[in-house]
Amino acid sequence: ALNVVGVECRWDGVTPRLGAVPGLPDGAYESDGQLTKRHVRAATLGALAPAPGELLWDVGGGSGSVGVEWMRTHPSCRAVAVERDAERAGRIARNAERLGVPGLRVVRGTAPEALAGLPVPDAVFVGGGLTTPGLLDACWDALPAGGRLVANTVTLESEALLAERYRRHGGDLVRLAVAHAVPVGGFTGWRQAMPVTQWAVVK
Ligand code: SAH
Repeated sequence: ALNVVGVECRWDGVTPRLGAVPGLPDGAYESDGQLTKRHVRAATLGALAPAPGELLWDVGGGSGSVGVEWMRTHPSCRAVAVERDAERAGRIARNAERLGVPGLRVVRGTAPEALAGLPVPDAVFVGGGLTTPGLLDACWDALPAGGRLVANTVTLESEALLAERYRRHGGDLVRLAVAHAVPVGGFTGWRQAMPVTQWAVVK
């Protein structure tokens, strides 16, 4: 069987090992393809740097993987996933339940409006909606000094916004280009995933 990136999934038929450290296999998640893939997800959680007791806003939650892995790092970690699509919001709750973090809060709504009234975050991840007017400003404004913001995108339009923020606020602007080995005839070759641009900054 193929996993969400169209790559043969070696976990099929085997109970996957689900460790405490971020970077769970993509097959651990129910997904419609809107999923931050394993290797990018591990780098994302590294930049978000969760500590016990901290709260994450996972804005554009998708399948919920970033919020789920934030919460799996320590039982006292908390996360709110904000997702505008009702079907995906339901999927986030199912993934959280199945992966041992049923306390992950899911807000079905559109950011930035849906962010109003949420408790102050220690870190914010923007996995979708970067081009929604006011979204990035609302996330930035909500962060206290010392808070971390990480935003990922695969589109040029959103990348331009991140480049502008990087010039203004600094941090790290990184491009992650992951490739998976796949069968090519009787041989093996690289299938390149779309490169992900990531901006990570401490306020
Ligand atoms: N990090 C996620 C994948 C994010 S996909 C994961 O690993 O599962 C991006 C998501 O952002 C999509 O589900 C889309 O519906 C959502 N989205 C886009 N704009 C949004 C907005 N303004 N408010 C809330 N959700 C939004």
